[in-house]
Amino acid sequence: LEPKEEFEHSSLAVDVMRPRRSDPPLAVLTQDSMTVGGVEALVESTRYSGFPVVVSQESPRLVGFVLRRDLLISIDNARKRQDGVVGASLVVFSEHPPAQAPDGPPPLRLRGIMDLSPFTVTDHTPMTSPDIFRKLGLRQFCLVSPRVTRRLLGIITKKDILKHMAQIANRDPDSILFN
Ligand code: ATP
Repeated sequence: LEPKEEFEHSSLAVDVMRPRRSDPPLAVLTQDSMTVGGVEALVESTRYSGFPVVVSQESPRLVGFVLRRDLLISIDNARKRQDGVVGASLVVFSEHPPAQAPDGPPPLRLRGIMDLSPFTVTDHTPMTSPDIFRKLGLRQFCLVSPRVTRRLLGIITKKDILKHMAQIANRDPDSILFN
């Protein structure tokens, strides 16, 4: 088989997704338990274009996806304009903010910038060509465990697919890459 065909016939989403075993874990946001300061620290310590939002660290069920750019703009605006938003304010992506101490700072509600139905596949979904990103107008998609649990497993960008295809091609140096 040509590498492109081999890729389309044998690769599963789980073979292509990040993080690989040796990578640091996924950088995720939790829906109602991180502070503005915590979110800023996470965003500034990485270069990723976006972050999956999960219920909590204990229950990593995917609830949405937020772009880095939108997070930075919203936090910046809130810090400038919204009375009382400080580093210790809770960032809330859920519909209803959790109960908080009455003397604490007001929460920063960011549900409006979250994609509520990010494109997902499961770990055993066969991979297709990287064209899928252009065709569906996506930047990335998330991998979740099948059925209702929707546990977040990983993330795939167009570059991840291209890298995986190149790796397969390198295993077979005589073949012509991508025709
Ligand atoms: P670039 O930004 O260089 O164009 P890219 O198009 O792959 O790369 P990025 O979002 O920056 O997009 O992702 C870089 C790499 O990190 C990819 O391998 C991707 O799967 C992975 N990645 C993306 N988002 C996260 C995240 N939140 N946590 C962990 N890894 C991520």
